[in-house]
Amino acid sequence: MRTEKDKNIPYKVYLDESEMPTSWYNVRADMKTKPAPLLNPGTMEPMKAEELAGVFCEELIAQELDDDTRDYPIPQEILDFYKMYRPSPLVRAYWLEEKLQTPAKIYYKFEVTNTSGSHKLNSATAQAYYAKKQGLKGVTTETGAGQWGTALSMACAYLDLDCLVYMVKVSYEQKPFRREVMRTYGATVTASPSDTTEIGRKILAENPGTTGSLGCAISEAVEAELVRDGYKYVLGSVLNQVLLHQSVIGLETQTALRKIGVEPDIIIGCAGGGSNLGGLISPFMGEKLRGEKDYRFIAVEPASCPSFTRGQFAYDFADTGKVCPLAKMYTLGSGFIPSANHAGGLRYHGMSPILSQLYHDGYMEAVAVEQTSVFEAAELFARCEGILPAPESSHAIRVAIDEALKCKETGEEKTIVFGLTGTGYFDMVAYEQFNNGSMNDYIPTDEELAKYAATLPPQPAE
Ligand SMILES: *Cc1c(COP(=O)(O)O)cnc(C)c1O
Repeated sequence: MRTEKDKNIPYKVYLDESEMPTSWYNVRADMKTKPAPLLNPGTMEPMKAEELAGVFCEELIAQELDDDTRDYPIPQEILDFYKMYRPSPLVRAYWLEEKLQTPAKIYYKFEVTNTSGSHKLNSATAQAYYAKKQGLKGVTTETGAGQWGTALSMACAYLDLDCLVYMVKVSYEQKPFRREVMRTYGATVTASPSDTTEIGRKILAENPGTTGSLGCAISEAVEAELVRDGYKYVLGSVLNQVLLHQSVIGLETQTALRKIGVEPDIIIGCAGGGSNLGGLISPFMGEKLRGEKDYRFIAVEPASCPSFTRGQFAYDFADTGKVCPLAKMYTLGSGFIPSANHAGGLRYHGMSPILSQLYHDGYMEAVAVEQTSVFEAAELFARCEGILPAPESSHAIRVAIDEALKCKETGEEKTIVFGLTGTGYFDMVAYEQFNNGSMNDYIPTDEELAKYAATLPPQPAE
């Protein structure tokens, strides 16, 4: 609620162009225990830059492997592109506070100031830029709900790069409009699994009715890159480089909060592969790791795909086809597919190795929430803040509301910041289910999770 005390806190904190960050922040530089290196599944040795060069762009590999450089200057061309849609506002959710009758102060970082509809453009731009700089013809990738594919298509259109997108079949069919946005930006979109790749044909033969998964689409996108000259593969989440690029979210948030003299107590983000959460919390986590400040960080995941809260911290494949390196992360097993009624995104089996290590070391909390409660939060938020949130983002909204309600009980005036990562215009099938009362929750049993966990590869000797 906007009280007398808050009269100087605006509804929205806008930054000037000159206040935008000019470097990305690499949180690994401040981690005492670094995230575990990617391993070559054949030799179980850490992947060398030369080995990764078959799949990824050179400069991105350097960023991926660099645990020490704290600040990475953002190339001018990327800064110029960022200015098309950044800085993004930090918004005070006065109407939500009012509705909840909470003494908590709620802010959200609004990452939806671009047509692709999510924060993913922050890394898509960077990855497309480095691909172009290396003289490549194009890039390949996978997309689940479609935000990453859309963001990458947009960045590739700008830089005049070819863009091949393998889109998880269920989304390809359920979200034709998202697909057409990508094609408008010039991308070639293929439903995955497809018969255009060896691995796709194999998966289809084994499981003809499959609606696909992210892990499977990744395998196809990597294969598509390997068989083409002048193409590399790019990935929209999970990787260290993606968290690095996404640190612009946290850096802008930090500047905006300082500008109004506010210190956050709790920072909340939804967690699929960890890129928005990692980007939002990185600079604040840095302060915590250096012992300068203390914050609570909360990762929110779906109860139907609970990598942090019920997964194993182990080396696992990033993809179903097992063509990618092994990453040490919280994982449900690379064969995991959320139940068919899961509608809210965040369906990846693994999690960012950086966030996994931080969670393992006790720097971060995680909670799993059920989808009907997520859509209840989305509806409440839409009705009082006016914004139709993406189901993914609504996981963070759910927990921001829960924390604000706890403050109501205790009377504490905590400051809560959460990441609003996307809008939900292409998620109306899920909203329709919710509105019709036909949405169900599904929580996998321990037996089901154990079945997938049993497929983890042999672990390296300690
Ligand atoms: C992709 C996506 C997410 C989840 O991905 P992270 O890498 O965990 O951030 C969250 N919200 C939106 C809107 C997305 O598009």
